[in-house]
Amino acid sequence: MTFEGQIRKMITENGKPIRYYLNFKDDYLDVNQQLEKKIRIKHLHNECLGCGLDKEIYRMGYCQTCFFSLPEANESIIRPELSTAHLGIEQRDLEWEKKFELQPHIVYLAVSSDLKVGVTRAAQIPTRWIDQGASYATIFAKTDNRYEAGMIEVALKNHASDKTNWQKMLKNDVPELDLIQQKDLFKMYIPEEESKFYLSDDSVYTFEYPVLEFPKKVKSLNLKKQREFEGVLTGIKGQYWIFEDGTVWNVRGHEGFYVEIEL
Ligand SMILES: [Zn+2]
Repeated sequence: MTFEGQIRKMITENGKPIRYYLNFKDDYLDVNQQLEKKIRIKHLHNECLGCGLDKEIYRMGYCQTCFFSLPEANESIIRPELSTAHLGIEQRDLEWEKKFELQPHIVYLAVSSDLKVGVTRAAQIPTRWIDQGASYATIFAKTDNRYEAGMIEVALKNHASDKTNWQKMLKNDVPELDLIQQKDLFKMYIPEEESKFYLSDDSVYTFEYPVLEFPKKVKSLNLKKQREFEGVLTGIKGQYWIFEDGTVWNVRGHEGFYVEIEL
């Protein structure tokens, strides 16, 4: 069976284990069903997530022109503290930015490799955690907009990382931490103006990924350098496919690639 289409991040469904789907324009692939099976991936050309043209993918699935002009790729996407829609100040497209930034956001603590702090829209929970391959997570604060969440994150960044070590995450080399204790500890770092957003709910969410065996060593597949790859799928975690030989494929990192997948 052959599928082809533009890569976008996998759609997930929280369950035990999590379910993964790769959506193409007219078709979708149930990725969990491919475990233990041989898959061939071939890069045919590109299709930018913004303009749809066959141009070199620069970052986040966008060509260089789209990356530097679309609101979806603005710097405040990566750094929420730079948001200005709450002040009515436009960066690239005020209407888009208002819709995106002026909605409830959460600041969370999660462990996918080490303790990490992050910001996401409330509507992106638990998707955001699954995309990062988090083993467990808790909500630290819930704010009215993106800027406020960004300010809290900046204050916590001195005490926890905002990055995930993907090799450790994929090898399931994950420490056992008491997230609630961390949360209590971090409470004192919230800036005065944002202290009212602290969430006292101490629920901890845990995630189970469809992985038959975690790799001991990982090597990353880059379709820009290697146009074609074939291997037996042994797991899915975060936005990665894990193969029997330790090769891992970052699906999200290949957004905007147009590929053929043969099962
Ligand atoms: Zn483009």
